[in-house]
Amino acid sequence: MPSKTMEELVSLCKRRGFIFQSNDIYGGVKGLYDYGPMGVELKNNLKQSWWKSMIYERDDVEGLDATILTGPDVLKHSGHEDTFSDPLVDCKSCKSRWKADQLDNQSCPNCKSKDLTDPRPFNLMFKTSIGPVDDGSSFAYLRPETAQQIFTNFKNVLDSTNRTLPFGIAQIGKAFRNEITPRNFIFRVREFEQMEMEFFVEPGTQKEWLDYWRDRRMEWWQSFANDPSKFRYRTHEKDELAHYAEACYDIEYEYPWGFDELEGVASRTDYDLKKHAEHSGAKLSYFDQQKQDPDTGKNGWRYTPYGIEPAAGVTRGLLVYLLDAYHEETVPNADGEDSTRVVMKLHPRLAPIKVAVLPLVKKEGLPEIAREMVSGFFKAGINARYDEQHSIGKRYRRHDEAGTPYCITIDGQTTEDGTVTIRDRDTMEQERISKDEALQVVQKRLIES
Ligand code: ATP
Repeated sequence: MPSKTMEELVSLCKRRGFIFQSNDIYGGVKGLYDYGPMGVELKNNLKQSWWKSMIYERDDVEGLDATILTGPDVLKHSGHEDTFSDPLVDCKSCKSRWKADQLDNQSCPNCKSKDLTDPRPFNLMFKTSIGPVDDGSSFAYLRPETAQQIFTNFKNVLDSTNRTLPFGIAQIGKAFRNEITPRNFIFRVREFEQMEMEFFVEPGTQKEWLDYWRDRRMEWWQSFANDPSKFRYRTHEKDELAHYAEACYDIEYEYPWGFDELEGVASRTDYDLKKHAEHSGAKLSYFDQQKQDPDTGKNGWRYTPYGIEPAAGVTRGLLVYLLDAYHEETVPNADGEDSTRVVMKLHPRLAPIKVAVLPLVKKEGLPEIAREMVSGFFKAGINARYDEQHSIGKRYRRHDEAGTPYCITIDGQTTEDGTVTIRDRDTMEQERISKDEALQVVQKRLIES
C-alpha cells in the first residue's frame, strides 16, 4: 500500500470514528491516540478473539488482570530499571532527538547535520509518585509490559488453581513506554495495550514450546486477514535478544514502510521467576512428583519453570487489520459512471457493527419494522445499527467505510410480502430474504465467516 493510502487510512479512521489524536482540541499530544465509537468496538472484538483463543478454547491457560502501577522492586529485579532503554542521540544543530538506529548514515534525519552527541541510554519507563507527598520517596512505574505481574502472581495462580505444568497465564492490558520518537500512526505510541501470555514449561522442553506458540500465534493472526502472505517470521540474532531471552521470533507484517514487528514470541528461560524469587524470598518454583530430579536421581523434582511468551500489541494488531482491510475499488455510481468506493474489508468477527438496518424511506411503517429488527439483533447479542440518514447509496458507502459486513434494507415490498434485501459489503450483491429469517441468516454468515 503506498504511503498516500496510509494518509487516507488515517483520515478514514478519523472520519468514521475509529481513531482520534488524543487531546485533539488542544492540538494533540504526540504518541497518544483515542479510540472512537468504531475503534473501541474493533479493539474489543480483537481482544475478545484473543481471549477466546487463549482461555476458552484451551484447557491449559488461566486469565489475570493485574495493576498498571508497578512497585519499583518488581521492575528493578526484573532488570528493567537497568536495561529497558533505547540509545538516545541529540542533534547539536537542530536540537532534535533520535533513537540511534534511526539515523541516516550517522547524520540527523531532520537537518542532515553530522554534529551529533554519542548515544546514551534513555530509560523508557514512566514514573509517577504514590501517596500525598511528592518527594520522590514513594513512586511507582507505569508498567512497560504486562508480563512482570504475571511472574509476580505465578504462585498465587498456581496455588489457587492447582494447575500442573505446562500451563499459561494470559493478560490483556495497558502498557506505557516513553518512546523517543513515536511514529507511524498507532504503530509506535507511548500508551498502548498488549495481549501477553507466559506459558510455563519444564526446563529442556522450551524449544518445542517456543515453536509451538510461534506457529499458533501466526495462524491466529492470519485467520482474520484478507492477505495472509503479508505476515512472516523473523528470528532474532543473538545480539538483539532482550536481557532475559535465549531465543525469540518476531511475527512481522508488511506495513507500508516494510516488514516490521507485530508480535514477539520469546523464550524467557527461568530468568524472571528466579530473579523475583531471589529478591522477594517467595518460592516461585514447581514440584513435579512424577519426575526424577536429574541431578540427584531421587523421585520428585523441584525446578523453576521456563517461560514462553507470546507478546502482542493490541493496538499494533489494530493497525495491521485496518491496513489489511483498506480497499479502494472502482465501481459504477447511480448514473453508471466510474466512482471510487472505499471499503474496509474487516473480518466479520472483528467488524465493529455486524449489521446495519436501513429503512428505504422514513415513512409507510418502514422505520418501525427496521427498529424492531434491530432490537431482535440486540437481544441475540449482535451489534446492529439503525440508520435512516441520507440516501440509501450514501448509507451503503458509510457502512462500507465502517466495515459493516451486512446491510439489510426495508422497502415497500417488505410491507407487501415480508421480504427484505441483505447486501454483502464485499461483493455488493443483494439477496431478498424473509424478514423473519434475517437474524438466522446473519448469525449463520457470522459463524461461517
Ligand atoms: P519494538 O521493537 O517495536 O520496540 P519490542 O520488541 O520492544 O517492540 P515487546 O517488548 O516485545 O516489543 O512488546 C510486545 C509487543 O508490544 C510488540 O510486538 C508490539 O506489538 C507492542 N508494542 C511494543 N512497544 C509498542 C509501542 N511503543 N507502541 C505500540 N505497540 C508496542
